[in-house]
Amino acid sequence: MTIAYPNTQLFIDGAWCAAASGRTLPVMNPATGKQIGTLAHAEKADLDRALEAASKGFVTWRKISAFERYKIMRKAANLLRERLDMVATLMTMEQGKTVAEAKAEILNGCDTIDWFAEEARRAYGRVIPARAEGVYQLVVKEPVGPVAAFTPWNFPINQIVRKLSAALAAGCSIIIKAPEETPASPAELIRAFADAGVPAGVIGLVYGVPADISSYLIPHPLIRKISFTGSTVVGKQLAAMAGAHMKRMTMELGGHAPVIVFDDADVEIAAKTMVGSKFRNAGQVCVSPTRFLVQEGVYNKFVEKFVEATKALKVGNGLDAGSTMGSLANPRRSSAMEMNVEDAAKHGGKVRTGGHRIGKEGNFFEPTVITEVPNDAHAMNNEPFGPMAMINPFKTFDDAVKESNRLPFGLAAYAWTKSAKTANAIASQVETGMITINHLGLAIPEVPFGGVKDSGYGSEGGTEAIEAYLNPKFVSQAGL
Ligand code: NAD
Repeated sequence: MTIAYPNTQLFIDGAWCAAASGRTLPVMNPATGKQIGTLAHAEKADLDRALEAASKGFVTWRKISAFERYKIMRKAANLLRERLDMVATLMTMEQGKTVAEAKAEILNGCDTIDWFAEEARRAYGRVIPARAEGVYQLVVKEPVGPVAAFTPWNFPINQIVRKLSAALAAGCSIIIKAPEETPASPAELIRAFADAGVPAGVIGLVYGVPADISSYLIPHPLIRKISFTGSTVVGKQLAAMAGAHMKRMTMELGGHAPVIVFDDADVEIAAKTMVGSKFRNAGQVCVSPTRFLVQEGVYNKFVEKFVEATKALKVGNGLDAGSTMGSLANPRRSSAMEMNVEDAAKHGGKVRTGGHRIGKEGNFFEPTVITEVPNDAHAMNNEPFGPMAMINPFKTFDDAVKESNRLPFGLAAYAWTKSAKTANAIASQVETGMITINHLGLAIPEVPFGGVKDSGYGSEGGTEAIEAYLNPKFVSQAGL
């Protein structure tokens, strides 16, 4: 089946439309470096229309019962499942990941919609025992109001779906500033909701200059809640802006995940599993395993197995069935990878495999493993956000904890050990919002997803996630 890549429009007040200025931006295929389409570029006039629509949409949507919202959301998830092949192909064409990865992302997104649809029906308040007879003290949960959400290009659908589903479940309307580099698959996500019956104005979708849009929407009095996924540097700027205007925030920012492999780990399973995790989406993942800390007794064996499994990956166009890792999403990432590898090698790191761009067309980069990388190398301190694993040995449990907690980030961590005592100890001492031990267990809809320290605050999964879109209102009522 040949699928034509579309020109993406804005979605405002229930209708697909061009920007008021008529301006468009090009969309490139990262596997070929060629333009495949355009997207509409919103400016102030479009944002004003989106804001007005979101305000009207909020009035409509909050009155629709949680049971009705649940039914519409479930229908959207099912429509997206029916359109899986088409949407996955668009995602691969604009983002570079393999079709298998795109499908997994979309299906996980559908599960997320289902989860939040069901949570809508469980957004319980409570009754607090009163001090006087005949008094009822109630806590009711109300939607916070219109939301502005900003999402990046690495997971074009999943970064949006967590915010969108939680907002809709709570009864909020939402304006999404989706990623300009990967616009068509997010538009298909929104189309599924519109086709399922979400009323006009409840969802707005815009693209443009990110800083222009965020600096207009965040302070705007109609917007009551902000959610951002992206880098820590930008997150801090947006959090400051939101703080100045007393807006509630959820911040999903960068990470630099440690992977701690203890002497008693099953090294073969650990190496094989972590290679799959490291090079998923070509390493452009906020929870990507990055600093591998391996205890001395199993260090050489782990490096050997990890390098062997890395060499077996097949890098190619994500549309080709044989590819197990696609291209990087944009030329910035290939340049960043080159700089990180050169810098690590200059500091004494040993490049065990990879380290170079592949071919002249597109943004392909070799899956790269570097060992014995000193802590003053750039990539040991800054998220490489690409297909690069760094492996260093450690001696004691305390050494591993110290290195794990050295950086200001605290998103995800991974550990491998057969000892329950070690597993408990590492889970309690690592300063991250999430840790998964002896398997890959992160990022499913029903579990919390979020970081601590410079990785942000708030959760985008589990029962906690919907609370970010709700205000508790206290009602005390006495009989007359
Ligand atoms: P970037 O920092 O310019 O952009 C990251 C994301 O933030 C993009 O989606 C962009 O549109 C958005 N953004 C940037 N400035 C903004 C603003 N003022 N207002 C609203 N949104 C804004 O750089 P990049 O080259 O796209 O990515 C670089 C780094 O960002 C990566 O190395 C990685 O550390 C981080 N990143 C993190 C995630 C994540 O999942 N947490 C996703 C993408 C990028």
